[in-house]
Amino acid sequence: MDPVNGGPARTAPSKTRMFARGATRACPVCGQRKLFRGLAILPDCPRCGLHFERIEGHWIGSVGLNTIVTFGLLAITVVGGLVATFPDFPVGRLTALAVAVSVIVPIAFHPSSRTLWTAIDIAMRPLEAHEVDWKKLEDSQPNAPEHQTEPERQTEDQQ
Ligand SMILES: [Zn+2]
Repeated sequence: MDPVNGGPARTAPSKTRMFARGATRACPVCGQRKLFRGLAILPDCPRCGLHFERIEGHWIGSVGLNTIVTFGLLAITVVGGLVATFPDFPVGRLTALAVAVSVIVPIAFHPSSRTLWTAIDIAMRPLEAHEVDWKKLEDSQPNAPEHQTEPERQTEDQQ
């Protein structure tokens, strides 16, 4: 039983599903898309009501994630470019490519970094019952086996 709302326990989807949703700019909890106005994420999920900025400073994690991805791709670009063109490095073109990666990747990955970080945060710091409007969510998908029962979730976490 769910101690807060009564009825069956309501929990987040599996971590795999949350990460897949987060990586594709969807709400980790319900899979809702169209969460962005331009590059800015909506404050709350229009479908499940999740407030994305779960605590003050929540978005620091997404900035860190974006930084890691950007520097990773930059390193691959620079090292890959040097290896591929050895020994006659086209310095101007490699520099232009590195600059392009440094500018485009953080902007392009920004939305995914928001939703993916939120998924990671929920995996580390599980949802509290009040964070999601479970009734609204269930009403919007009456037949989908979206939410696992508590025993299934525990089994998965042990793997
Ligand atoms: Zn949602």
